[in-house]
Amino acid sequence: MERLKIKELLDGKHLGEDVEVKGWVRTRRGNKQVQFVQLNDGSTIKNLQIVFDMKKFSDEDMKPITTGSSLRVTGRLVESLGAGQSCELQADEIEVYGTAPSDYPLQKKGHSLEFLRDKAHLRPRTNTFSAIMRIRSALAFAIHKFFQEKGFVYLNTPLITASDCEGAGAMFQVTTLPLDNLPRTEDGKIDYSQDFFGKPTSLTVSGQLEGELGATALGEIYTFGPTFRAENSNTPRHLAEFWMVEPEMAFYDINANMDLAEEFIKYCIRYALDNCRDDIEFMNERFDPELIDRLNFVLNHDFQRLTYTEGVEILKNSGKKFEFPVDWGTDLQSEHERYLVEEHFKKPVILTDYPKEIKAFYMKQNEDGKTVRAMDVLFPKIGEIIGGSEREADYDKLKKRIDELHIPAKDMWWYLETRKYGTVPHSGFGLGFERLVLFVTAMQNIRDVIPFPRYPKNADF
Ligand code: ATP
Ligand code: MN
Repeated sequence: MERLKIKELLDGKHLGEDVEVKGWVRTRRGNKQVQFVQLNDGSTIKNLQIVFDMKKFSDEDMKPITTGSSLRVTGRLVESLGAGQSCELQADEIEVYGTAPSDYPLQKKGHSLEFLRDKAHLRPRTNTFSAIMRIRSALAFAIHKFFQEKGFVYLNTPLITASDCEGAGAMFQVTTLPLDNLPRTEDGKIDYSQDFFGKPTSLTVSGQLEGELGATALGEIYTFGPTFRAENSNTPRHLAEFWMVEPEMAFYDINANMDLAEEFIKYCIRYALDNCRDDIEFMNERFDPELIDRLNFVLNHDFQRLTYTEGVEILKNSGKKFEFPVDWGTDLQSEHERYLVEEHFKKPVILTDYPKEIKAFYMKQNEDGKTVRAMDVLFPKIGEIIGGSEREADYDKLKKRIDELHIPAKDMWWYLETRKYGTVPHSGFGLGFERLVLFVTAMQNIRDVIPFPRYPKNADF
């Protein structure tokens, strides 16, 4: 007999057939005549009810079937008379793969998210985390589908980098030098010539610079991979290891970039709504009754586009007391971003043309000499979900900015050559994948939307 997944069994097409199913026991209850086991195999949020006729099974048979144990069951799939399920399995034969003693940590339902974070090795067995992981997986697939359908090339940029000029955040150093006995040069500095790569290296904070090399050859590329930032920010929106999607497109100006970003996010949300209905409904019921409305709202509205300067004016005139004061030239905090999105415009916002001092060196400089063609997409509940820009395509302007910021030109020669040989207008952005998953799941803490979160003082599992 071929094993079927619970998701397939519940769609009703196998009613009346003898089937085999495998999974983990969520609960068992019943009496001397009949016992009911809720079995889950991860294929869906729903459990399959297994009915044990106690004329066929002994108490001894039932003893190892406790919460958390794993089973193979064969039997007849029949229509269910009980509420809440379409069909159930009448058990004929069972095999217990593994028992779960009474110290199994997920005995009862309703554990706090904090408790489950300490049990990250088991939490995918809960309804909440299995739903989140399936939604996350579907969103990852949607990302590839979106870009592949548009003819973008999936480019794998390096995770280990020797350039520390990306400027997006503090970096984790990668070294094989013995930390308790560092080789020194004659003037007492660390002798990196003896390190693995012969120079200092780190984990990447962004694949963008290499992404631009791809775009200026292949036209349109995207990256989708892990990114690392050693910023000591213990916030519900930052991880030390997170996944980033970074499309980079030749011949796109900032407007085309914004259009793509908006279309892209909407596509992913639509895909999740169409393909993860049960899981999103569960999250809606369990965590946030406005989740589905909010997802549909985003799909049905154009994002509000305005400049940073206009945004700052709105914030200053809002009469609202912010923890961090706003003035032209300061970086916006999450509270400011969320005010614009949630209270002022009440829809997603794309802010453009930020002061050049608070943005990276590679962004296209505006004629005013003060601002650059940056864009941040701001979302309800999240704040910044995407950061991007049109890139400076002019060799001289870019070189001048690099010099102003004292970025060592010897590290940047390869990047500058894209502007020296056949330079083109081009743009790109970075989407923090976990922030998208946060938005689609209504979770509040980014540590709950990645299987094994990495953050200050935590690298368990
Ligand atoms: P923030 O201001 O929120 O710290 P950032 O401006 O430093 O973000 P970018 O360098 O623009 O971030 O990175 C692009 C995107 O990556 C951001 O829009 C965000 O969605 C995501 N991101 C940035 N830092 C983190 C992090 N530490 N953990 C998870 N996602 C992140
Ligand atoms: Mn940003």
